[in-house]
Amino acid sequence: MTFRNIVSFPDLSLYRKCHTVKRFDEDLRSLVADMLDTMNVKNGVGLAANQIGIRKRVVVLKIGALIDDDPDQGAESVPLVMVNPEITPVGDKTFKWEEACLSVPYISARVERFMNIQVAFQDVNGEKHSLTADNELAGAIQHECDHLDGKLFLARLGRIKRDMLQRKIKKKLKKEKDIADMRALALKKEMTDIYGESEDKKQSTAEAVKRLKIKRRRAKEKKNRKNKKRRK
Ligand SMILES: [Zn+2]
Repeated sequence: MTFRNIVSFPDLSLYRKCHTVKRFDEDLRSLVADMLDTMNVKNGVGLAANQIGIRKRVVVLKIGALIDDDPDQGAESVPLVMVNPEITPVGDKTFKWEEACLSVPYISARVERFMNIQVAFQDVNGEKHSLTADNELAGAIQHECDHLDGKLFLARLGRIKRDMLQRKIKKKLKKEKDIADMRALALKKEMTDIYGESEDKKQSTAEAVKRLKIKRRRAKEKKNRKNKKRRK
């Protein structure tokens, strides 16, 4: 098992549809193992394959965390792994709940979801299954399956709210980058203060400048000679 980096907003790959899984082989089992590992390390409740950069229709969910009263105990229960999931809403009742996402840093928002759903899916061996879910579990499955269609939960919000939240994330990401840049600069300055500019670097720069000057002088001399010949 390997922990993989999470692909985050505004990475465009999150907006692309995932492909149907056709081969139920060792690669798929290894992908699922990595997804479970990553979900646990990142303390997420669910994860879609494209969140770790693999465009396959696979999602994993910490099902216990969503249906048990004690989320800590539930988190240890068997995870739900769904390959090629297909959601069918049961009735048209909806509910609103607070959603967050490992790929959308800093924010959460209230999202409207179907209250009851039926999901047809395959397991890692290609066996077909079906389950019904309601409330939080239904909401989480809808959130993860949206990922497979290139849709973030932001897409389920009104435009004004979505724009406001996107601006907020971008502002925070910029601030984070500025802080990282400033730290890198401060470190560089500190190193120069301690060790000074490297002598090798100074010398090689001086030599490069010297060589350039000679080259330019020779080019000028050649041009002058040509012009003289023409005048003759
Ligand atoms: Zn998500």
